[in-house]
Amino acid sequence: MAVTSRSFAVIGLGSFGSTVATELQRSGNTVAGIDIDEKRVSRVAEHLSSTAILDATDEDALREIGIDGYGAAIVAIGDDIEASILTTMNLKLVGVETIWVKAAGKAHHRILSKLGVDRVIQPEQEMGRHIAQMLNNPAVQDYVSLGNGFHVVNILVPERLEGKTLDALKIGKSHDLQLLGLMRGTDYVDCDNGGLTLQEKDKLLVLGKRADLRRFGDSL
Ligand code: ADP
Repeated sequence: MAVTSRSFAVIGLGSFGSTVATELQRSGNTVAGIDIDEKRVSRVAEHLSSTAILDATDEDALREIGIDGYGAAIVAIGDDIEASILTTMNLKLVGVETIWVKAAGKAHHRILSKLGVDRVIQPEQEMGRHIAQMLNNPAVQDYVSLGNGFHVVNILVPERLEGKTLDALKIGKSHDLQLLGLMRGTDYVDCDNGGLTLQEKDKLLVLGKRADLRRFGDSL
């Protein structure tokens, strides 16, 4: 099935904004990169569908490039809180459907929430939590938090378990966890068959609560 391409406007092309913009473009979307600084724009121009050099606090300038035609806008203006807020208000006024904004701190976060943006992002805090979770459970390569304490984690099978069967891990029995499958290289392997033999570097996809996942990670 073909994946639908969507259109995004990324405003502010610092390290965060330019990474978001180029990744969205790489995933097959249409991306407009916008920045007040010509140099920031020219650094990413060849990777994006379109670019514009403008001051996003200027509502008319945003209207002129047809910003309302984009499905979503991401405001990634670093520490200039005033510019970030004015830009966000402009996007609301123009009628951009989905607006995500990067916040520089707590007060900024509160104001953005009051403005009714769809999501406020605090990359350093979010990444910090992510890293702490992985340090907390060293077997975990990566994880997704599902809320209410539930996570899906990606656990590397250690060398000493090579050749053992899935059943030997006792995921459902001794541990209150669900095995969703495993990744072998870039292939997904279904784990309905408990007799499946593990290979080193397999990555188990496991669903469960944090403490149960930690116990399981420690038991490997
Ligand atoms: P980070 O590196 O944390 O992503 P930066 O502060 O380096 O953040 O990047 C913010 C970007 O936002 C800069 O490239 C800056 O030129 C841009 N910017 C700041 N004010 C405006 C504005 N009013 N309109 C458009 N872009 C802006």
